[in-house]
Amino acid sequence: MRRRTDDDGGVSRRSYLAGSAAAVSLPLSGCLGSIGGNGTDDGDDGSTGDAPDRLVVRNGTVVSVDPDIGVLERADVYVENGEIVEVAEGIDPDDAAVIDASGAVVAPGFVNTHLHTWQAGVRGIAGDWTFTDYLEIMLGEVSSHYRPEDAYLGNLFGAAEQLNAGTTTVLDWFHIANSPDHSDRAIDGLEDAGIRAVFTHGPPGDDGAKWWEASTEPHPDDIERLHEERFPVADDRITLAMGIRGPDYATDEVVEEDITRAREMGIPASMHIGSLGGGGVYALEELGLLGDDLNYVHANRFEDEEFALVGDSGGSISTTPEVELQMGMGTPVLGKAAEAGATPSVGVDIVSNVSGDMFTQTRMAVGVQRGIDNQPVVDRGEQTTEVSIDPHRALEIATIEGARALGLEDRVGSITPGKRADLVVIDGGDVNTLPVNNPVETVAFQAGVGNVDTVIVDGEVAKRDGALTNDALAEERDAFEASAERVLSESGLAE
Ligand SMILES: [Zn+2]
Repeated sequence: MRRRTDDDGGVSRRSYLAGSAAAVSLPLSGCLGSIGGNGTDDGDDGSTGDAPDRLVVRNGTVVSVDPDIGVLERADVYVENGEIVEVAEGIDPDDAAVIDASGAVVAPGFVNTHLHTWQAGVRGIAGDWTFTDYLEIMLGEVSSHYRPEDAYLGNLFGAAEQLNAGTTTVLDWFHIANSPDHSDRAIDGLEDAGIRAVFTHGPPGDDGAKWWEASTEPHPDDIERLHEERFPVADDRITLAMGIRGPDYATDEVVEEDITRAREMGIPASMHIGSLGGGGVYALEELGLLGDDLNYVHANRFEDEEFALVGDSGGSISTTPEVELQMGMGTPVLGKAAEAGATPSVGVDIVSNVSGDMFTQTRMAVGVQRGIDNQPVVDRGEQTTEVSIDPHRALEIATIEGARALGLEDRVGSITPGKRADLVVIDGGDVNTLPVNNPVETVAFQAGVGNVDTVIVDGEVAKRDGALTNDALAEERDAFEASAERVLSESGLAE
């Protein structure tokens, strides 16, 4: 029943134009209110946004995603030292910085539960690749040419792209851990970007066959160093997880050893599974390894019983619909995941081929699921009488369910007093958002990246008036483009 990746796609190396790569351009300023008032401090290193001790996001329509708070019109969100203190009308604290959100919708930041952030540098080269192309070219070739500084730049700009699109938390699945320096610089990139992240330390990208084909190599020991030295505190803005190969890509012995080590460190583990074939969950069950600390990515070819096992054990599933549909992994499984009781969540996966924003990915996951749900009625020649996944549920999947999938639901995922202030302010006065007849639908189904006016992470302003606040992006832009050009050239993908 189990399938392993012994695929040999026989794909020939391709050649891509690299000379005309689009410049990284930051969005032009919007016209929503600006930050002001007293008590505004600069960020610690001066390179990222304002981090005022007290901050009020004023007079917006607050879509809290908290069932006890619901949607509040003309409400304020009061933040103190990065924590949401109060959500109500007419809050007027002394000496607070103010972001005027009049006419805007204030929502929790999106939670992207699966991203290989490093691939920002190879953006847009893989739009017609199959999954076997990807395994051979990206993980068999491109990944070996990344140096530590390329990992830094990829993660800095990849995380900035997420913030720009209203995503405040990302699981960064890092599978170019080619040396300790690669991992350290990748974490530096996330830190300098100012995003909340689960840095998911994976295998090196230096030998695709060794690490990804029925691998007998256990997870690199460097994760213990990272755990002790870089992540000694469990509730920092960036936390650690283990990116394991899992039963589709490694032997039972390796799977058991890896998950056991992750549990000894008290960190979650995330694995790609079920995109090449089914049966992997049975292997985990036979080994006695199922648990609520496991995150399953893709899961397209799971059998129904596998979904049940994941749901019963409290696992989470990351659906990355655009990648899965393109690359022939199978139909996205948002509905099956939820039905089985697994935590359903959405991710981007890779911007080497698909859209980096959670607006697109969430809508695609929801749209595919609605199509699946409607099809039996269509097949009977009847008319649909109800539509599955209401807009609020779609928004939950992009926010609080993602937080739950990453074990962060007590800290982020909704606008709730006591949680960290990860907020997105969406302009309701733009031509594609006006009028805001239903603020939940504005966020879930109408708005896009261009409407993201302000983004706040941990109380720190990462984007305001439609522009990212991080000076590092302008400083590093040339280096980022040069890095991408070199990696593609050495990979044989540039002319
Ligand atoms: Zn992935």
